[in-house]
Amino acid sequence: MRITILGAGAMGSLFGGLLAEHGHDVELLDVNPNHIEQVRNHGLTLETEGKGTRVIRLPISRPEAVVRRPDWLILFTKTMHTQGAMEAVRHVLHDQVMVLSLQNGLGNAERVARFLPMSRIAVGVTTVPADMTGPGHVHSHGAGHNRMMMADARPSEALQALADALTQAGLPSTLDASVQAAIWQKAAFNAALNTVCAVTCATVGQVGRLPQARELAHAIATEVLAVANANGLEVDARGLHDTLDHALDHHLQHKPSMLQDLLAGRPTEVDAINGEVLRVARGLGIDAPRTQALDALTRLRQSLVLDPR
Ligand code: NAD
Repeated sequence: MRITILGAGAMGSLFGGLLAEHGHDVELLDVNPNHIEQVRNHGLTLETEGKGTRVIRLPISRPEAVVRRPDWLILFTKTMHTQGAMEAVRHVLHDQVMVLSLQNGLGNAERVARFLPMSRIAVGVTTVPADMTGPGHVHSHGAGHNRMMMADARPSEALQALADALTQAGLPSTLDASVQAAIWQKAAFNAALNTVCAVTCATVGQVGRLPQARELAHAIATEVLAVANANGLEVDARGLHDTLDHALDHHLQHKPSMLQDLLAGRPTEVDAINGEVLRVARGLGIDAPRTQALDALTRLRQSLVLDPR
């Protein structure tokens, strides 16, 4: 199985590195010149719980320079870079290639479907954590699990084979028919916590300490759940509110990725999270006023960070 990772940041490098470490034929593609140079000249340093720190050698290049035609393309850019990344590898997209997206947010299959049929796209959610601690250096603290399914919900031996390879490599993965509900549940969690922290610069613990802020996060989650339900998905409401409470009470110092992106002067994934929820809500004639307010405020902060005139 030839596996190409498109977007080899924290998650892509972790998945690619672990697969390569377990004997799979993996190539990384990225656009970050410092990361490419470091991995090419000194290898990829992986730091994971239980296995410590080690250096893994594997090929890396820019997407437009890739020549190898993959069996599986695992997409791990941030959602706003999907289109550009897929365009850059168009020349190696043959009529058997399969794509897996475990990116956060909604609409990931639809973005990839501009390049190949839904029958060759798989989507899912991951709770595996990863951070880039510097170019060529990835750290993963704690365990996680991947749930995935073909976007057209058909069974797939190819996806089962990929899930088995990921599991063997230390990334437990299962095929799950209810993955769309899981994707919405994670989007609801991110719409609730990511945007509130991004707009206010608060850590998750600081949101949890103030009753009104805590209530706002739960109210946003409830709004997103109502949209998911109206869209025909049965999302586990109790599970979502419990996960939210657990994060608010225990992940005290955590800065969600949207806040980290803004602090680093980068765009956020707000369009794939709040933006997509609002597009679906509008199509169904549902109001989601808190989700909409946080969407606007996050976009405002993002525009000020990207263009502070
Ligand atoms: P990241 O920013 O660390 O990595 C994204 C990589 O994509 C970067 O290295 C960037 O240079 C690269 N990239 C940007 N444009 C590109 C292009 N045109 N072609 C190729 N590469 C390009 O992000 P991440 O934390 O690895 O997250 C990836 C996805 O996984 C996101 O959707 C995120 O929400 C999701 N996710 C992350 C975590 C986590 O713990 N980091 C957990 C679950 C889900």
